[in-house]
Amino acid sequence: MKGASQQQTIAAFRLISSSDPSAVILDKTSKYSKCWMNKFGHDNPTVVLRPKTLPQLQAFLSFANRNEIPLVPQSGNTGLVGGSVPNAPDEHVLSMDRFTATPICLNKEEQIMTLDAGVVLQDAIDFAKQHNFLFPLSIGSSGSCLIGGNVATNAGGMYFSRFGSLRENVVGLEAVLPSGEILNMMKCVLPKDSVGFDLRSLFIGSEGTLGVISKVAVKVHTMPTSRELAILACDSFDNVRKINEKISQLSPGLVSAVELMDSSVLEMVRARLGKTICFDITKGHYYIALEFMGFDEMSDRAQLEALLASALDEGYICDGIIAQSLTHLNEIWATR
Ligand SMILES: Cc1cc2nc3c(=O)[nH]c(=O)nc-3n(C[C@H](O)[C@H](O)[C@H](O)COP(=O)(O)OP(=O)(O)OC[C@H]3O[C@@H](n4cnc5c(N)ncnc54)[C@H](O)[C@@H]3O)c2cc1C
Repeated sequence: MKGASQQQTIAAFRLISSSDPSAVILDKTSKYSKCWMNKFGHDNPTVVLRPKTLPQLQAFLSFANRNEIPLVPQSGNTGLVGGSVPNAPDEHVLSMDRFTATPICLNKEEQIMTLDAGVVLQDAIDFAKQHNFLFPLSIGSSGSCLIGGNVATNAGGMYFSRFGSLRENVVGLEAVLPSGEILNMMKCVLPKDSVGFDLRSLFIGSEGTLGVISKVAVKVHTMPTSRELAILACDSFDNVRKINEKISQLSPGLVSAVELMDSSVLEMVRARLGKTICFDITKGHYYIALEFMGFDEMSDRAQLEALLASALDEGYICDGIIAQSLTHLNEIWATR
């Protein structure tokens, strides 16, 4: 098949998945062949492979590998750097958007959630939440990106400062190599494990260069019972650094997110996206969003108020507000 025509390649892929016509698509493929920003990829006809099961994924990969047919793994196609779309007309897309055959599984005792790579991130977050657990990957694309793509990009997000990126949260992983072989690293090991090479870690952030991630096991955390959010306005970057130092001295396990926005970015959000910003953006040049997640509402609130008061006294901030309700908190995060 080496050097086969496009028609022969398509016929071969169709034969591999003959009982599942939706596994190979040729029409309306531009949502797969171009990125959402219209910046990367192309409009040329592309073959899109959409495996649903592990044997299908293995068969597609090994056939393409034997016949030197380039495939680009793709999940939610929300990446910002063109890694999930074809570069050349002869490249085909291997989309993981149907790869959800196994139901999400939660081991409450071990606090581990196991998911097929095609699960939408928001579904994973919601599933954990229904069982009173937090899956702390919060990114703007959560309604579209898939967990396999998140692991392949080592996604971080808003809660990075407390929980780390996915590298700190993936405890098991299964991948299919280009040869079609399955690499099973699902045995969830203790963090203290020090045996040999950490192959699992190699796949995290590998962007599809080593194989296709098919399943992952991730840590989930007991859902905090309190959430407090403050916006601190600073007039200089020097003061931002001083506040940051103060924040780093707070008790561990309290701060869940620290994000910095400057006034020009906020102005752009208001002017270009037409968003109403629910805090005063005329008070400083820099705005720090500081979130606490904890288990004692009164004490958490008191600590946040104390931080604001001392930062005002010391002249590090020129203004500060605390979200007054969950709706207010969500409105502030929506600006971010
Ligand atoms: C509004 C918005 C906000 C964002 N915020 C953040 C943020 O805060 N933090 C952050 O890290 N990113 C952020 N991103 C970027 C992007 O959403 C993430 O990188 C996300 O993890 C990509 O997931 P995806 O499912 O869309 O993967 P895709 O874009 O489809 O793929 C990304 C890369 O992974 C490879 N890949 C995909 N699936 C697999 C697989 N199963 N096995 C192997 N390789 C695979 C692809 O080939 C590609 O190289 C944001 C994007 C948007 C649009």
